Amino acid sequence: MNPPLSLRPPHRADVAVIGCGIVGLSVAFHLRRRGLSCLLIDAKGPAGETSFGNAGSISIGNLLPQSTPGIAWKALRMLADPLAPLKLDWGASRGYAGWLLRFLREGRRERVMPIIEALHAINTAARAAWLELGEAIGAQELIAHTGYLHVYSEEATFAGGQWERELMRERGVAFDVLDGAQLRDLEPGIGPGFQRAVFQRDSLAMRDPGEFCRRLFNDLSARGAQVLIAGVEAIERRGTDYRLRTSAGEAQVGQVVVAAGAWSNRLLRPFGVRLPVIPARGYHLMYPQHQEVVRRPTLWAERYMVVSPMRQGIRMTSIKELTGLDRDPRYALIRRLDPQARALFPALSGEPDAEWAGNRPCTPDSLPILDRVAGENLYIATGHGHLGLTQGPISGRLIDRMMAGEATDIAMAPYRLDRFA
Ligand SMILES: Cc1cc2nc3c(=O)[nH]c(=O)nc-3n(C[C@H](O)[C@H](O)[C@H](O)COP(=O)(O)OP(=O)(O)OC[C@H]3O[C@@H](n4cnc5c(N)ncnc54)[C@H](O)[C@@H]3O)c2cc1C
Repeated sequence: MNPPLSLRPPHRADVAVIGCGIVGLSVAFHLRRRGLSCLLIDAKGPAGETSFGNAGSISIGNLLPQSTPGIAWKALRMLADPLAPLKLDWGASRGYAGWLLRFLREGRRERVMPIIEALHAINTAARAAWLELGEAIGAQELIAHTGYLHVYSEEATFAGGQWERELMRERGVAFDVLDGAQLRDLEPGIGPGFQRAVFQRDSLAMRDPGEFCRRLFNDLSARGAQVLIAGVEAIERRGTDYRLRTSAGEAQVGQVVVAAGAWSNRLLRPFGVRLPVIPARGYHLMYPQHQEVVRRPTLWAERYMVVSPMRQGIRMTSIKELTGLDRDPRYALIRRLDPQARALFPALSGEPDAEWAGNRPCTPDSLPILDRVAGENLYIATGHGHLGLTQGPISGRLIDRMMAGEATDIAMAPYRLDRFA
């Protein structure tokens, strides 16, 4: 059942959460549980953007940021290869020079170790947060305990992953290194070109990220949250409150959480806040196939391609295109990877019946921004980049604790905005 949409402004609530992707909805879940009245606002409804079409991997063991030592050469090589995932939309990305420099700097060895610790901390905490959220809204059947599989087609890349495996081992990440036979025992449909794999056992798989967000949204609405499907045009301070100007009228609230993913910057600029967040566009193709081809999200490490079993069929995701939010998707980028998806899982048959593009909100250090704007009752929850599905529920809990002035289980300094000062 669709929740009732209250379109009669003005709305009043303790807190407005702008953005009903997995991050904003998770924040609202915790605030409502604390007894605060919430107004959920989204221009497109629940999971109308990036939280809809991701690869569905709740990647607990992931501890490497996007920028690591040697990234500059790796990126140049990728840009020269038409089948590689990294793309620069030159027209739109010229304004990103500062972000790119910062990105390269974050990959230096002395910078990268604290980032790894912070990624490890938040991703480890993500598992319990996901299971708690799934149970609370009765959506456990959408969360599969399958782990996350990384497969390698080249021995050199597997060997190059030794550092990452050492980091995982030192930090107690549950994983197995598999040879070709063990890989086929675990994932029988894998193509013949793959003889090496790393299996992260504790990772989870979301079978339908869009449906999970819809159920969470409906659950919040059924428990009294107001919902407004409208674009927020501006946030204005009114004494100790905030007035939100939206495409469907005005709302008056005491506190605001901006969880608008890659679109968050525009809303915060009037408060002097500049988030180093740019969109890295990713794409998916859906194959309408329901017989078992793949059992769990499987990453082809060299290609940065993930093939995942979803409720609707099989989903292949890839591409990191640094582009502008107003630029049209270039679906040809993902369509041309169709033969590679079939090389990864040869039993994949039939033609894709849907394609999709979404904008990952990326920071230079691959860590989210979870913070309060100085002197304001205005909170930021964005910048989750490639791991926003994984980190959504735990981010919700952390923002809630921050708003309540309570201690958090993990140190918040690495996620504060002033790390970019
Ligand atoms: C191809 C691909 C594969 C991915 N795979 C994975 C994966 O396997 N695992 C993982 O952990 N992560 C993955 N991610 C990343 C993950 O999907 C994102 O990090 C996450 O969805 C971001 O969630 P969000 O809630 O911050 O943003 P979004 O889901 O984008 O939500 C932001 C919401 O804000 C709304 N909004 C924006 N501006 C306004 C406004 N002014 N007024 C009102 N509403 C507004 C939008 O309509 C939108 O619904 C993947 C991403 C892509 C693109």
